[in-house]
Amino acid sequence: MTGISAADVLDVLVVGGGPVGACAAALLVRGSAGNTMPLRVAVLEPKRPQPPAGDSPIDPRVVAISRASERILEAAGAWARVSGLRLCPYERMRVWHESVAPTSPAALLFDAADVGEPNLGYIVENRVLQAALLDAFVEAGGRIEPAQLAALHITADCVNVETSGGALAARLVIGADGSQSAVREAVGLTAEVSAYGQTAIVATVATEHPHERTAWQRFMRNGTLAFLPLADGTSSIVWSADDAVAEALLMASPADFAVELDRASDLALGVTRLISERKSFPLRRLAAHRYVAQRVALIGDAAHVVHPLAGQGVNLGLLDAAALAERVLEGRHEREDPGALRVLRQYERWRKSEVAFMSTAIDSFDRFLAHGSGPLSKLAQRGLGWVNRSQELKRFFVSRALGITGELPRVAQRAAVTSSQSV
Ligand SMILES: Cc1cc2nc3c(=O)[nH]c(=O)nc-3n(C[C@H](O)[C@H](O)[C@H](O)COP(=O)(O)OP(=O)(O)OC[C@H]3O[C@@H](n4cnc5c(N)ncnc54)[C@H](O)[C@@H]3O)c2cc1C
Repeated sequence: MTGISAADVLDVLVVGGGPVGACAAALLVRGSAGNTMPLRVAVLEPKRPQPPAGDSPIDPRVVAISRASERILEAAGAWARVSGLRLCPYERMRVWHESVAPTSPAALLFDAADVGEPNLGYIVENRVLQAALLDAFVEAGGRIEPAQLAALHITADCVNVETSGGALAARLVIGADGSQSAVREAVGLTAEVSAYGQTAIVATVATEHPHERTAWQRFMRNGTLAFLPLADGTSSIVWSADDAVAEALLMASPADFAVELDRASDLALGVTRLISERKSFPLRRLAAHRYVAQRVALIGDAAHVVHPLAGQGVNLGLLDAAALAERVLEGRHEREDPGALRVLRQYERWRKSEVAFMSTAIDSFDRFLAHGSGPLSKLAQRGLGWVNRSQELKRFFVSRALGITGELPRVAQRAAVTSSQSV
């Protein structure tokens, strides 16, 4: 052990304090507080964001979070912070193909009221989510190391970690360092990676008509366009287009971009005006072949990256965080080593199949609704109208979107928190 005494070995080191890593860390510290052996947890994160000032513009990088995520954030001690900061609940979702109008019976309308829910989820700024979770972790007694991972060496008793700020050691290292995960690389965990040949453009826009707390999503033959409602009445767009089209859209003047946006949205929200910079994200799919190795577990984008069209990346990652924390905390109860492969494999078995199911479903939406014109694409387009006419199918899809189906971690099973009704 590189000069670190056994007493200084952490129970868990989370590499990457993005929303997923910060959530796992907060759940582990809070879940073991008051136990005879509380877990000693640190997060390695070089870029800790500050919560935005109340009057600053809303950041274009936002995410839609589900009911399951809301419950997990509550358990992590971050929900009160998130809900106090420019959170926008959305009550409806309109999904349509470019071959029909958004209000046509062949389009899909999900309404929270139809399933007895106050809303279908929330739109929140990424930096708000991350800052709230890191603050909750620190408040619960966790510590943040403002450094970057350099190397790690796995031994029988612990993992020795070299960072830009010095050496650390932990019984379990959680790789939550995003899609380019250095942990995944260092441990030699391989992944299947493929480019979609698409780039997502995100920006904030003002719209002629109010968004009505509705998330709007149009599938086109060459991509997907979503309008996500924001608390100040503006909308965040996520426009996933083929690379060449996206490049031209990014180069266009703000006025020309708005014209193209109006064409692509079929004026569903009337005329639009760009009010932020445009950010771009090349899209790729990633699926790690294994999520765990001796004393190491991957969560969130380090383990899997999905297309943003269904708004599920963070939601899947928060479920990973909760599932892993649950297994480690259960093991702690039995005085089990947090890095024991037996414990980690339980987490992997649980989450890998759930993620694979969701990832395949999302890819099918992209292949058949956002691209392609063959018989299967026509069938999928008509499918939107069929789902729209069936309450049973709607309930199935809404439960999926709310993230409340499948084998849920205990903290995601709780009744919806009451604060959601008053946002
Ligand atoms: C355009 C777009 C729209 C999206 N919309 C949605 C949505 O609506 N809903 C949804 O659920 N998901 C959405 N996603 C997906 C979501 O953004 C990701 O799934 C999510 O950010 C993953 O979180 P994470 O914590 O796993 O990784 P990240 O957010 O990538 O965080 C990784 C962290 O690790 C740190 N790090 C990296 N390397 C190191 C290192 N070597 N040492 C130490 N720390 C390190 C980084 O600083 C960072 O803080 C969207 C994605 C895109 C591209």
